[in-house]
Amino acid sequence: MGYVCLHCGKKVKTIGPNFIRCPYCGYRVLAKERSSLAREVSSD
Ligand SMILES: [Zn+2]
Repeated sequence: MGYVCLHCGKKVKTIGPNFIRCPYCGYRVLAKERSSLAREVSSD
């Protein structure tokens, strides 16, 4: 299961349970890829 960087929006693979960081921008706040952000945006 991957993560999505909330800063640049790129997919990030987890390196470890306590070491999750975006390799592209260094941002440390990531969202689980499962919970699609598209769903949140598109509200009927
Ligand atoms: Zn990033």
